[in-house]
Amino acid sequence: MCIEKNPWERSIEFHGHSCPGLAVGYRVAGIALKKLKEYRAVDEELVAIVENDACGVDAIMLLTGCTLGKGNLIYRDHGKQVYTFGSRNSNRALRISVNGEVLHRQDPGVAELRKKVFGGAATEEEKKKFYEYQASRTDQILNMPEEDFCVTEEINFKMPDKARIFNSVQCGSCGEYVMESRARVKDGQVVCIPCADNYSRG
Ligand SMILES: [Zn+2]
Ligand SMILES: [Zn+2]
Repeated sequence: MCIEKNPWERSIEFHGHSCPGLAVGYRVAGIALKKLKEYRAVDEELVAIVENDACGVDAIMLLTGCTLGKGNLIYRDHGKQVYTFGSRNSNRALRISVNGEVLHRQDPGVAELRKKVFGGAATEEEKKKFYEYQASRTDQILNMPEEDFCVTEEINFKMPDKARIFNSVQCGSCGEYVMESRARVKDGQVVCIPCADNYSRG
């Protein structure tokens, strides 16, 4: 019998593991789609701006269809758990700010346990304890009331231009092709960024 995986299982499969961060992205994506009355974007009808590049972004890409490759996932390196979604269909946009306490709640002893596990110094018993703790945090995040999880507001938002196709030019140094908008000029020659930075392949 073939049982289709549910969206959470598919998120885990895509991301590689289950973790509290993935649960955050899963919740954010679900709230955004529900509030904007949207489905997974086939093309660029939805745009997501993510202000971090942590685990949760994988669930957002999978569930909303906003992906790096389509150009409708915009990454801003702010290190914040804030997500903005805009819909070209309805011209509406939402800003979702995840409640800091959801993310930074630190139960006694966990910081130390985490250090041991990731430093490779944990015993089997400690590893088990840590992963059980992570699983319970994941579960909490998935099941907590929305109003405890985040603050959501509808905002005025100018949708970014659709992804454009750029011409390519050949780098005068390595000979590889580079998008015109990313090309640099060095010593009077058009070059790619790695060549302009004197990047060496070692
Ligand atoms: Zn993860
Ligand atoms: Zn080059």
